Amino acid sequence: MSLRVTPKRPRRTREWLRGTVLAIAAEGFSEQLERHGYRPEVISNYLGGVAHFSHWLTRTRRRVEDIDEALIKGFLDRHVAACHCATGCTRRRLELRLALALLLQWLDRSRSFARECARSGGWKRSWPSSNTT
Ligand SMILES: [Zn+2]
Repeated sequence: MSLRVTPKRPRRTREWLRGTVLAIAAEGFSEQLERHGYRPEVISNYLGGVAHFSHWLTRTRRRVEDIDEALIKGFLDRHVAACHCATGCTRRRLELRLALALLLQWLDRSRSFARECARSGGWKRSWPSSNTT
């Protein structure tokens, strides 16, 4: 699955995400933001932040399973403070912090759901409701 290009997912973000750790997860995360009624500009900004984080995860050889609050804090405090990534990538701390907090929430729910499915033996139930936050 690849991230579709729409106004909410500009080409630059899609290219930035391609081949990175969160390339697939970003699609589900973006759809979750849409379901919650986030405005297209906000989704675009948050995805830009996720793309920057994903690029860093990949460069530092981390996996989706490694993502937690401490890792996000390290990214914000150490990497972003001295970032030399591509021009135009999202570096605004507030925006990055909000985007990554939402990403972590979404990943935690997805992980819980996957564990529950593994225990119950299948994907029979619907995806967790988006109206829980
Ligand atoms: Zn960077």
